[in-house]
Amino acid sequence: MQRLARALYQKAAEHKPSLFEAKDLLGRMIDWSLEDESLRVALFRFVDVLPSLESSTEIGRHLEEYFARVDHALGGLAFLAQALHAGTLVAPVVRRNVIKLARRFIAEESDDYLNQVLSSLRKEPAAFTLDVVGEATVSEVEAAAMHQRYLELLRRLSNLSATWPACAQIDDAPNGKLPRVNLSVKLSSLCARFDPLDPSTESIVRERLRLLFREAAKLDAAITVDMEQYAFKDLTLEIFRGVLAEKEFSAAPRAAIALQAYLREAERDVRELIRWAHRQKRRIGVRLVKGAYWDSEIAWAKQKGWPIPVFLDKTETDASYERISRLLLENHDVIEAAFGSHNLRSLAHAIVVAKELGIAPSGYEIQMLYGMAEPVRQAIIQNGQRVRVYLPVGELLPGISYLIRRLMENTSNTSFLRQTYADRKDIGALIKAPARPLKRDDDTAELAAAPADLAQPFRNEPPIDFSQAENRRGFAKALEEVREHFKKSRVRKRSSGSWLESVNPADPKDVVGQVRSTSIDQAETAIESAARFFPKWRATSAAERAKLLVKAAAIMRKKRWELAAWEVFEVGKGWREADGDVTEAIDYLEYYAREMLRLSAPRQTQQLPGETNIYFYQPRGVAAIIAPWNFPLAILTGMTAAALVTGNCVLMKPAEQSPILAEHLLAILREAGFFQDACQLLQGGGEIGAHLVRSAQVHLIAFTGSREVGLEILREAHTHRPGQNHVKRVVCEMGGKNALIIDADADLDEAVVHIIDSAFGYQGQKCSAASRVILLDEIYDRLLARLIGAARSLKIGAPEDPRNVLGPVIDDTARDRIAEYIRLGKKSAECVLEMAAPRDGFFVGPVIFGDVEPSSRIAQEEIFGPVLSVLRARDFDHALEIANDSAFALTGGIFSRSPAHIEKAREEFRVGNLYINRGVTGAIIERQPFGGLKLSGIGSKAGGPDYLLQFLEPRTVSENTLRHGFVPPERPKITRK
Ligand code: NAD
Repeated sequence: MQRLARALYQKAAEHKPSLFEAKDLLGRMIDWSLEDESLRVALFRFVDVLPSLESSTEIGRHLEEYFARVDHALGGLAFLAQALHAGTLVAPVVRRNVIKLARRFIAEESDDYLNQVLSSLRKEPAAFTLDVVGEATVSEVEAAAMHQRYLELLRRLSNLSATWPACAQIDDAPNGKLPRVNLSVKLSSLCARFDPLDPSTESIVRERLRLLFREAAKLDAAITVDMEQYAFKDLTLEIFRGVLAEKEFSAAPRAAIALQAYLREAERDVRELIRWAHRQKRRIGVRLVKGAYWDSEIAWAKQKGWPIPVFLDKTETDASYERISRLLLENHDVIEAAFGSHNLRSLAHAIVVAKELGIAPSGYEIQMLYGMAEPVRQAIIQNGQRVRVYLPVGELLPGISYLIRRLMENTSNTSFLRQTYADRKDIGALIKAPARPLKRDDDTAELAAAPADLAQPFRNEPPIDFSQAENRRGFAKALEEVREHFKKSRVRKRSSGSWLESVNPADPKDVVGQVRSTSIDQAETAIESAARFFPKWRATSAAERAKLLVKAAAIMRKKRWELAAWEVFEVGKGWREADGDVTEAIDYLEYYAREMLRLSAPRQTQQLPGETNIYFYQPRGVAAIIAPWNFPLAILTGMTAAALVTGNCVLMKPAEQSPILAEHLLAILREAGFFQDACQLLQGGGEIGAHLVRSAQVHLIAFTGSREVGLEILREAHTHRPGQNHVKRVVCEMGGKNALIIDADADLDEAVVHIIDSAFGYQGQKCSAASRVILLDEIYDRLLARLIGAARSLKIGAPEDPRNVLGPVIDDTARDRIAEYIRLGKKSAECVLEMAAPRDGFFVGPVIFGDVEPSSRIAQEEIFGPVLSVLRARDFDHALEIANDSAFALTGGIFSRSPAHIEKAREEFRVGNLYINRGVTGAIIERQPFGGLKLSGIGSKAGGPDYLLQFLEPRTVSENTLRHGFVPPERPKITRK
């Protein structure tokens, strides 16, 4: 193996790959990027944004923004160019060069261009597989167009290939001729939202893949299904196997699937695939690659708190690649193996194992990317191997992310190509067998540690990973059980008194539960018992109170599926949203428990002889917690946990629309051991809340809800009443009218997806939802059209069914209020999308208004439903001006690739939570402390380090310890509660 690798290496080392031939400006740029990491980042970010820049001025500006601060001679050069106003002169040169560079990796799609590239590849000889690069598919229309493009390419390639002379090295396989046409397909491009949770993804993609297979079989072409991110893997495999298992495809077409050796599950998947092929008595192709999303997979998993699906150590991936290579070759009766790599060691290994197993070179193939490692390719071809080149075709603008990945790959420190051609690393080191890492990289140990122990640092509760089939089944079962439960208990006999009925907003005939409403007299009794109990609760140590919270978190964690299922029925949340609310509730319990421990230690303010000065906190008294329905567990839990752990006695007043979840929370707190009088639940509407607010015995009000009610509470709370010997403290979190700015240079693929999620997630009923989208003039039409297409592809219906991305709004009052705003909007703006909605529940179809006037009511008032106002801005400053022109200031966001604009937004987009190049919803406890400014709120951010202080009063105690000139030597005694 070493011998072969060495021989191939020596041959390959005779020439440099075209990319490393530093003859033109880009060759030099690659060289620079190898010299300096910050320059490498700047360079790739610049290349990423370049195709979206239309004018030379814009290119010049970005050149300066990206490079002026880089600590490298090139940075200085860019700065100088701008200073001399030469940026606009440099710009066209740069653009031309980047286009030239991109065309080394991405071919044009015209017949002439393709014919030329493919014919010259055949002369090498190298076969090909075509990959279509394009915009991310975000709507049904785009998915259908992509599907058509695949079909057409199959036909066109088939015509082109008819004239090519035969070539045994690439056309012949032991079991017959190979198709000359080979198309690589990404399944995510075949539907509007490739989501493993949504069962319609599978049916839509299966049907489109079926049509592709049928056409390929007819034309004698081959199809390879590409592998994308880990979250899509299982579903991709499922669809691939499902369609191939259909009788129609038992003999044709030749089909293959790509598998990634960097995944810890790769070997298991390959074994399963082999067993499946045996059962099906069918040959399938497997393209083994190492995997192209390594950094992203690690980042995504860490952000979610999920196990990292890839090996962290590169040598583990290399070893996995070799193990799987052998496995594939050992099963060559059912597997047509293709080895996709540029690493000579990995390729030599596959070639030698094949030889050892007596498999002819025509019995498997080597695959390489177009534009990469050409000398390696030549060496392998000359060795008699069949080589297939993976050739991306399409426009450069959407192809740029592909280009960036290639550039990163070529220039990363661990890249075989970089080490070979740029760093000129010793050949022995390059081709030696992958060493076992000293410590097996395994991140699961860290995850296994239970967070129950308060001594452990806070960690966010990971959401359910719905890309895993067992989780989908588990949640479906939880829904069934909860439905069963409320159906059975429906006939509960009503005793006297008034009752609150909670209904399923998707089907109001479904009564989810009934609870007894609290009367004003009962509320009064509750306040009194809370006030009586307060001294006792205050005397309980902070450590004890924190322990109870963590216990409650553990109980909630055990019930999380069930609780999320209740949310689906009681407030109409989709699966992910419901789960998100429960995980957030758990986070609040865990986080505030630790926060209290941090704050509970009394501090000595200054060290002085003869005097001690101690600063510490005490609870305020009786706390009224008044919560909304839209995060029925998280917000109620968060405010309650904060009040309890700080030692206040709590009166929980949940929203009248979500009483059942409140009952569940109370049961959990009781089970955890909170005393009856420390925490009571008062069910009912605004009148109960108002009574609590006015009570002279209430010290603290924590409210989250609408602006109207919030302002009313502030007014009432600050009115002094007889018998009241304190000033009430009000924590008041109110609504939002959040704006998302999309800059002219934004990545529109990303922007569309996040706008849709931010505007229509949970039907726009989040305080953080994007309800104004401000588009820069240059991109207005293009982006609006894509937004409309994407919104139109959303399915509306009962959220119990995960096919439905949009569910109902909370009740008929909300539905009518939203309808009124839609009527109003139609008078002042253009209604560019209005979708029909089911009539049975409280549904409202998403609505988009275009060219909305910034001052109009739909652009100023909180609608709290799936209604999006799109506004047009002349330039970035104008966009900021529109965004800030609001009485609210809760969340906001921008999509931009201009460092200067991002900086400006950081400074001048004055909202409580600003998000850059991501959606504006889904704040995570501790990571993104949450809360607004202006009329959005007066609280210190929930889930942040200052939150608990609002529930506490600070005290200072100073003691003179001097007695007739004698200073006691001992340290002051600081007690800790
Ligand atoms: P809401 O203001 O109608 O009701 C909130 C709570 O206040 C309910 O429990 C309600 O019964 C009670 N209430 C009503 N009238 C009262 C009165 N006069 N005195 C005392 N209590 C009274 O809000 P909602 O419809 O439940 O929730 C949606 C609103 O909440 C939206 O405006 C949304 O933006 C806001 N919200 C804000 C945040 C945030 O963190 N800033 C989070 C979630 C929701």
